[in-house]
Amino acid sequence: DTEQIICAGCGVKVQTEDREGLGYAPPSALERDVVICQRCFRLKHYNEVQDVSLTDDDFLKILNTLGEKDALIVKIVDVFDFNGSWLQGLHRFVGKNDVLLVANKVDLLPKSFKRNKLINWLKKSAKELGLRPVDVCLMSAAKGESVIEIAATIDKLRQGKDVYIVGATNVGKSTFINKMIQAFDGDEEQLITTSHFPGTTLDMIDIPLDDGRTLYDTPGIINHHQMAHYIDKKELKLITPKKEIKPIVNQLNEGQALFFGGLARLDFKQGERSSFVSYFSNELQIHRTKVEKADQLYANHLGELLAPPGPKSKEDFPPLVKKDFRIKDKKVDLVFSGLGFVTINGTNLDIAAHVPKGVTVSIRDSII
Ligand code: GDP
Repeated sequence: DTEQIICAGCGVKVQTEDREGLGYAPPSALERDVVICQRCFRLKHYNEVQDVSLTDDDFLKILNTLGEKDALIVKIVDVFDFNGSWLQGLHRFVGKNDVLLVANKVDLLPKSFKRNKLINWLKKSAKELGLRPVDVCLMSAAKGESVIEIAATIDKLRQGKDVYIVGATNVGKSTFINKMIQAFDGDEEQLITTSHFPGTTLDMIDIPLDDGRTLYDTPGIINHHQMAHYIDKKELKLITPKKEIKPIVNQLNEGQALFFGGLARLDFKQGERSSFVSYFSNELQIHRTKVEKADQLYANHLGELLAPPGPKSKEDFPPLVKKDFRIKDKKVDLVFSGLGFVTINGTNLDIAAHVPKGVTVSIRDSII
């Protein structure tokens, strides 16, 4: 009975079912005298921080403790899926603590994007969502871009306090922390020591800072990517951008429509010929058709021409639901949560977006 086994490293209950979950260990690990979870194993042997997913309840417990601390909170979001990775309600838990907002994965945006514009947009959006960060930084943890600068910013802002890193799963928290560890390991003025990890507390990995303070890596909460519920892992990989996104430009006349694989659709219902620029994974096929033909095309070709979903996941794929938008006179992004966005530049346009039920679609001021 695995319920009874406790990780010797961090004290969590060891389980062998959910690879992404807290306390996971491969079944073979249970045969050892001293059982440690995979997360502690990797930490011990590779100095590598591995993220785990928590349930909402567990995550709330961790967030709840944040307000009682006197610390700097570093919140990481995925710039390509800002809303999906936001962590609703964090501002209610941080108490009086300062929050540094770090937007990761900027390498996915086209090289021409304007940093200042994006930073201002992030500040404005954070404020609208109830959070006033002391500063906003852009980063590409995977490419190592700005990692050292952000470490220095953290060190300055923390004013001798502890640091808590928070973020949804998949925002790049582990990548960031591992890059920081690499950058400072062996350096005389170490910000982070890797020589003797004190192991973990119940739920967090703590990394000692040079003044006796600690940087805590909190486990991420599962990102409720609705889109992920409807397609399989391989398809999800395909729609998750890995490289700089190549925008696809379409000049559309009214009555034209775009399909994003078989996952979403945009109708240009009414207005002057306008520009629609799509930012999705380069792997996702975009098909242009006529609004009047779109329903039929979808009925006949979902799972083949219009994929993902593939022939199998199409069986359980819910019908698309329509949401109408009016674009007045601003350059906006129509955001398909967890999938991508379309920048629309035009005046007095009527648009409809079709998405699987439960997937959010929304309009924002363009970040491009
Ligand atoms: P965590 O769950 O927040 O710890 O996220 P991970 O560090 O495990 O990263 C999740 C995924 O995002 C992995 O596939 C990473 O390779 C990828 N990733 C992390 N940082 C970046 C980045 O700066 N740019 C891009 N394009 N991908 C990244």
